[in-house]
Amino acid sequence: MSLFVEVALPVPMRQNFTYRVKTNEQNDDSPQAKPQIGVRVKVPFGRQQLIGLVTAITDSCDLAPTQLKSVIEFIDDAPLLPESLYKLTLWAARYYFCSQGQMLTQALPVALRKGLDAAPQKIQYWQITTIGSNIAPETLKRAPAQKKLLEHLKQTSLTQEEVISLELNKTALKTLEEKGWIAQHEKIAQLNLDWRSQLELDETPHRLNKEQAVAVTVLTQQQGYHCTLLEGITGSGKTEVYLALLEHILKQGKQALILVPEIGLTPQTINRFKRRFRVNVAVLHSGLTDNQRLEAWRQARCGQAAIIIGTRSALFTPMAFPGVIILDEEHDSSFKQQEGVGYHARDLAVMRGHLESIPVVLGSATPSLESLQNALSGRYHHLQLGERAGNAKKVRQGIIDIKNLPLKAGMSAPLINEIRSHLDAGNQVLLFLNRRGFAPALLCHECGHLHECDRCDAFFTVHQSLGEIRCHHCGNQYAIPRQCHNCGSTMLMGQGIGTEQLAEALQLEFPKYPVVRIDRDTTRLKGSLESHLSAIHKGEYKILVGTQMLAKGHHFPDVTLVGLLDVDGALFSADFRAPERFGQLYTQVAGRAGRANKLGTVLLQTHQSDNPILRDLLHRGYGEFARSQLKERQMALLPPAWHMVLVRAEAHSALDADNFLNSFASLLPQDKEFEIIGPMPAPLDRKAGKFRRQLMFQAKHRHRLQQEFERIYPLVEQLPEAKRCRWSLDRDPQDLL
Ligand code: ADP
Ligand code: ZN
Ligand code: ZN
Repeated sequence: MSLFVEVALPVPMRQNFTYRVKTNEQNDDSPQAKPQIGVRVKVPFGRQQLIGLVTAITDSCDLAPTQLKSVIEFIDDAPLLPESLYKLTLWAARYYFCSQGQMLTQALPVALRKGLDAAPQKIQYWQITTIGSNIAPETLKRAPAQKKLLEHLKQTSLTQEEVISLELNKTALKTLEEKGWIAQHEKIAQLNLDWRSQLELDETPHRLNKEQAVAVTVLTQQQGYHCTLLEGITGSGKTEVYLALLEHILKQGKQALILVPEIGLTPQTINRFKRRFRVNVAVLHSGLTDNQRLEAWRQARCGQAAIIIGTRSALFTPMAFPGVIILDEEHDSSFKQQEGVGYHARDLAVMRGHLESIPVVLGSATPSLESLQNALSGRYHHLQLGERAGNAKKVRQGIIDIKNLPLKAGMSAPLINEIRSHLDAGNQVLLFLNRRGFAPALLCHECGHLHECDRCDAFFTVHQSLGEIRCHHCGNQYAIPRQCHNCGSTMLMGQGIGTEQLAEALQLEFPKYPVVRIDRDTTRLKGSLESHLSAIHKGEYKILVGTQMLAKGHHFPDVTLVGLLDVDGALFSADFRAPERFGQLYTQVAGRAGRANKLGTVLLQTHQSDNPILRDLLHRGYGEFARSQLKERQMALLPPAWHMVLVRAEAHSALDADNFLNSFASLLPQDKEFEIIGPMPAPLDRKAGKFRRQLMFQAKHRHRLQQEFERIYPLVEQLPEAKRCRWSLDRDPQDLL
């Protein structure tokens, strides 16, 4: 009988591949594990060998025997992932329009993709043989090192680690082995699951305030799948709620998976969980070596690690005893993968909760509109914490209208004066400037006029390299005007200043007060963020300049003034998520001020002091602001009300990219419930010499979007134009760049 397996391979083709399994009669020497769904196999693919996962086993195959190749090797003797995670990758591959092999590549640690052993680590140890046990140590008087070893081994076996920690001689060990008195054996590291029966706390929890107690009661009563949005203002004690929930989950002998944003995975965060419970905590982040990552993965899979903390991709970590998934700062955009398969860890976490029948908690001070909609519509439970825990005070906020004011490296005189008075009072000042992620609008410095599309209710985006302004809602375009359309001034601004320039200017202005800059450039080296942060805490720096890296999680008790310099660029970009992002950023940054007993002040500079979005945010706070934004999205047929797919194409010639996207668009219907916008240049329209174009799809119904794209995908792959550019699909895009 012949046997075939279908294999998911890490290649972009959206299909699995069939291989023949060598049966026993044809057997050569290679020992073969039995084919099973979910085990890894090594197979020939073109001229290379690839490792994939078996997705099906059949006894017939339509392909001609000459077209078939054989499996080289089955690597595992049991499926690598629990069924729930296997199903999750299947579901995700369909949802994100990629191959199952590509999705599995996201889900598995690199070391496993390379073929390393997934079983728990084996430990080498030495044991005395029968001959050895009949030897009296006294006969080794002249070899004291061997004598000492023999004495030890007569009592108990020794692992490599114990040999080292007891400072025993390794040469003597070899000699005894050669004499046949001792022998080396291998065993699987013993599983320690004591935490499941006997959970020990290392610190006494805070006494929960009323809101926290209500939240904990609701969460600990949940059985099976539930999704809950925990909306709690900065400093309201969300982490304390997680910890109380964790205690409840761990006490039942179940594990917890905690996902945090990339910037949020600091030693401070990890320590808060480590300090509370005397259990193993597995930490998964991008700084680990492949082997360290595999080890953390194994610890989670066998149940040795009770708590698993990690960034986006840790979502796929298997748990022996799944108990709960918590996503902290659920609004954070780092949960969405930008390169390759654009999966969203939040959405997949909710799906995983379903598949494993466990609760999922999404926490944030500034929830995403997606989660907020689900909470308001009743799909998710909704818990709110509106009070700051402990005794922290509210902040004072103000707007500085910088229309027509002279600016020094982006700073107005009122801001500089305020900085001076806070510094002279012995406090720290944080200045925030974020240029990433927001494409600039065209702004007049004299009158504050923003240049708006004459066909849409949207602002133009400046494309310096094209010398054009473009509307990203309709594709309308003009040459960059020389004069303001409102007042005729020639002082039009499209580009702002960067953090480096700002830090320099501050140091000149305030030579007595040391300045530190925190952004991607200054924190590239491992550990440099931590050392900067600790220097800030010691008061070595008085002025902090940074990008959004400074906005998250950190507590700066001596910061009393937070200044936001470049609000306009953030507010009026082409990206429909810009107001939401700005609201989140502003609220998070403002949350840095006045955390301890000192009163905090937040000042923001803008040309648009009357802007309704800004007013709304400052007067009513993020919660109300987000709710009105959600209504606007609904009216504009934008996510989360409608569903979106972005097709990106880049090519050496803009025409090639446009042609491809036009052909792509022509394959799809256009009607009242299915809209196509573009092709148009990406906000970042040229990158590394390539032209970048995009096409946007908005559909009223999720399943219709799914159906249409599944129908046309094979046709798109066949398009001759597809060969002339690089293209990709981004489902639920977070960044239109
Ligand atoms: P969040 O995660 O919402 O920003 P945290 O859990 O970090 O808030 O809490 C903010 C601060 O308040 C922390 O220093 C925390 O130790 C403290 N805190 C939290 N809950 C309480 C409580 N019930 N009583 C006293 N202090 C608390
Ligand atoms: Zn327009
Ligand atoms: Zn003007």
